[in-house]
Amino acid sequence: MSETTETIFSKIISREIPANIVYEDDLALAFKDIHPQAPVHILVIPKKPIAKLDDAESEDRDLLGHLLLTAKRVALEAGLENGYRVVINTDADGGQTVYHLHLHILGGRQLAWPPG
Ligand code: 5GP
Repeated sequence: MSETTETIFSKIISREIPANIVYEDDLALAFKDIHPQAPVHILVIPKKPIAKLDDAESEDRDLLGHLLLTAKRVALEAGLENGYRVVINTDADGGQTVYHLHLHILGGRQLAWPPG
């Protein structure tokens, strides 16, 4: 089983495990993080199993743009008109724990900078 093809997130896409899904289309899925770090904490993932940002290729250009536009849409639908943060943790030093590309949407409180 490859980390790129079978993760907890691929099981959420296939509905093998439940999640609080807030948006879905043919390319992307968005659902609430199980351990929220802010009042709003939503993950946006591609249905294509890209393990991490490093593995995205030029052929993924449209998909990556779609994920950002989906993040904006989901953030505003969640009521984050006052602002929010979009984060992509990448590999070991980035703190990535699930190897299926995902965008964190964090909001609903004043976020500190720099992050830890
Ligand atoms: P990372 O650390 O890889 O950037 O983020 C992974 C995120 O996935 C974490 O914020 C973690 O709480 C979330 N997560 C891990 N397992 C599950 C799960 O089974 N369901 C949901 N909804 N979120 C999960």
